[in-house]
Amino acid sequence: MKPIPFLELQSQHQDLRAELNLAFNEVLDSGWFIQGRQLEAFEQEYAAYCGSKYCIGVGNGLDALHLILRAYGIGAGDEVIVPSNTYIASWLAVSYAGARPVPVEPDLRTYNIDPERVAAAITPRTKAIMAVHLYGQTAEMDALRALAGQHGLKLIEDAAQSQGATYQGKRSGNLGDAAGHSFYPGKNLGAMGDAGAVTTDDAGLAHKLRGLRNYGSHIKYHNEVKGYNSRLDELQAALLRVKLKKLPEWNRQRQALAQRYQQGLQDLPGLTLPYVPAWAEPVWHLYVVRHAQRDALQQHLQAAGIGSMIHYPIPPHLQGAYREMGLAAGSLPLSEQIHAEVLSLPLDPYLPAESVERVIAAVREFAIGAR
Ligand SMILES: *Cc1c(COP(=O)(O)O)cnc(C)c1O
Repeated sequence: MKPIPFLELQSQHQDLRAELNLAFNEVLDSGWFIQGRQLEAFEQEYAAYCGSKYCIGVGNGLDALHLILRAYGIGAGDEVIVPSNTYIASWLAVSYAGARPVPVEPDLRTYNIDPERVAAAITPRTKAIMAVHLYGQTAEMDALRALAGQHGLKLIEDAAQSQGATYQGKRSGNLGDAAGHSFYPGKNLGAMGDAGAVTTDDAGLAHKLRGLRNYGSHIKYHNEVKGYNSRLDELQAALLRVKLKKLPEWNRQRQALAQRYQQGLQDLPGLTLPYVPAWAEPVWHLYVVRHAQRDALQQHLQAAGIGSMIHYPIPPHLQGAYREMGLAAGSLPLSEQIHAEVLSLPLDPYLPAESVERVIAAVREFAIGAR
């Protein structure tokens, strides 16, 4: 039988080939490659999609988060609350700004940051809460917004995995003070290279970000602050505009496939499926199950020709990059348990329904056999 890869991007590009070629040719013929009409149009279209007033294109998702912190003046001596259970970029953005990431454990059902634990982690140095909408499902934003309001903190979304996800019907990217988005190729909306953006309703913040991404300059050769070179180029913007039109349909297809997984895998011994609270409508960037014998499950799938991945194998606090924090194994047990037990099954908008059935059959076989 044909192998089922964890993810392949050729199908979506094949589907859009003609339109992508047109977009490429348009940029080629324009002779304008940085900060032009394509970027402006993408920023308007993506802001409208998220329901935000402003969108500022930047070089990648990590820069988006870092520049938000810089624009808010968060830096040395400040603390930013981050999920213990996330991709390391959420922490690195805080470190780049010169502030200290303060990890807070998740709710074991949703894998997202636990607002009760956030409350306990707030100190006089805390300046912001970074909520990550992990795997494409929004964090518990009302509770986090209430805490941010009480303590005068900024609420920042890491929306790298959640383009189109909603919280009580409201889109991710528009649920806090500012949001960082990534268009890394494998994300729900992916460029053909690196790209990212910030969305916000804050005009002052948007203005600062437009300067920070471009050498601290609003007027050519006038540099008001020590800025960066982090721009979303014309070519990526043009390609993203083509793909953005498809995003709602792609997300619906992801939802349909995830629904099938939820039905086909329910009630299996030892297998924990994604939990979706009533207020969340996830966009299933990843479909993640949990099993105490995760590695054996992955091998079983591998033997059946089915690709899978672990998001993520090592939590940030146990990475060499954060050795300085002195957080030993066992210090953030929920995150460690999640990292030891999660497995992401194949899921993308072009995954054939038959492939999903094959994955379901293989997981069932393992879970029942492993009992
Ligand atoms: C992908 C990702 C990022 C970083 O985005 P890049 O564009 O790769 O810099 C940040 N946070 C999370 C949760 C991500 O998944």
